Amino acid sequence: MIKCKWTYLMFLFFIMPVLYGCSSTHVSTLPTYKHIKSQPDVVVPYGVRTELNQFKIRPWKYIVIHHSASDSGSAASIGKYHKEEKGWVNGLGYDFLIGNGNGSKDGQIEVGGRWNLQIDGAHAGNPEYNKHGIGICLVGNFDNDYPTNQQISSLLYLINYLQKRCNIQKNNIIMHKTFRKTVCPGKHFPFNKLLASLK
Ligand SMILES: [Zn+2]
Repeated sequence: MIKCKWTYLMFLFFIMPVLYGCSSTHVSTLPTYKHIKSQPDVVVPYGVRTELNQFKIRPWKYIVIHHSASDSGSAASIGKYHKEEKGWVNGLGYDFLIGNGNGSKDGQIEVGGRWNLQIDGAHAGNPEYNKHGIGICLVGNFDNDYPTNQQISSLLYLINYLQKRCNIQKNNIIMHKTFRKTVCPGKHFPFNKLLASLK
């Protein structure tokens, strides 16, 4: 009994500190943990997710990517321009707009009225793609600038969502210039990188 107690006390007073000391010394020599963000946080507020989910959708075939060819803008300002200057009674020609921090928040997804009503778009300049294509516009001129990380992150979120919801094949995710004589969405738009990031 006494022998047992001694062994126990030896363990407590001599062996434990050695073990603890060894391991703590070892741990302290390891590099400190650094949180590396592989992608910026996606700015998709709960309200947008609810808004996306609430509508009954019609069949869609394509996702068409555009830039606004302007430095700033929002669904309201571009919608006003489409209504008043272009004379489109249904306003904003795109289904979705992704802000760049000028006129709307960086990476902010705005859901357009045409998506809410599930009516034809006015973004493609082509009846097939206006009728069957979901128009997503990123604010900016990507012939001069690059989209922001937040814009790309939000675009990935939105495309992933729409691909699943509308059963759209990866090869039907296209740029405006794929089927029309235009520079849209600009020479700096990282289309190949975008496709590589999609499932
Ligand atoms: Zn376009």
